[in-house]
Amino acid sequence: MISIKSEREIELLRIAGKITGDTHNYLLPYIKPGITTKELDDLSYNYIISRGATPSFKNYDGFPGSICTSINDEVVHGIPGNRKLKNGDIIKIDIGACYKGYHGDSAWTYPVGKISTRLENLLAQTEEALFKGLSVIKEGTRIGDIGYAISEIANKYHLGVVKELVGHGVGRDIHEEPDVPNYGKKNTGPILKEGMVIAVEPMLNLGTPNIFIEDDDWTIVTADEEPSAHFEHTVLVTKDGYEILTKR
Ligand code: MG
Ligand code: MG
Repeated sequence: MISIKSEREIELLRIAGKITGDTHNYLLPYIKPGITTKELDDLSYNYIISRGATPSFKNYDGFPGSICTSINDEVVHGIPGNRKLKNGDIIKIDIGACYKGYHGDSAWTYPVGKISTRLENLLAQTEEALFKGLSVIKEGTRIGDIGYAISEIANKYHLGVVKELVGHGVGRDIHEEPDVPNYGKKNTGPILKEGMVIAVEPMLNLGTPNIFIEDDDWTIVTADEEPSAHFEHTVLVTKDGYEILTKR
């Protein structure tokens, strides 16, 4: 069952989304060579708490961090630790904030210092895929239409689409129905209705779409060690379009 949110729930989801987006903005000046991912995690924890929310990912299935920090060939679910960011890295920061029982979920990929043109393109193209996926959303759109739109962009730039990890509904739980894959066929899958809230999150790789899980049982990496990018917004479905809840 895909839940339709009430006005009150939408108000709380807007606040949770705003805190999530604001946490990204808050971190931005700290994303520099030399900082550790644990320091970014601590900054996020303190900021989210200061806003009257809690980090959605902390203790989720036992995840130890408040945010996910995934560098270069790490796709998602990187655990914050002592690794220092280096000039030329890219880092994916995935943030969830829970406010009065409702969640916001947004990931973004950031350059660290000066990055190569190849990486600049990967970031721009994956962000383009996110907004292309969002652009088809309105009441009546089917989930397959979103994945189709995303994979069209991925194919255009010859990027690998990660298939094992998908977007999802968002509400009282950070991961609700439906699954929102980054591939699909037009006119297939569940039909969106006004009041549904979903997270759309393309994960695109410069090389193979294949991934595996590291020995820490969390960090997902690309099989060929090529870099991966991830962009995600949580959005409310409306009659004629969508509202980004995790705006920056
Ligand atoms: Mg998500
Ligand atoms: Mg996320």
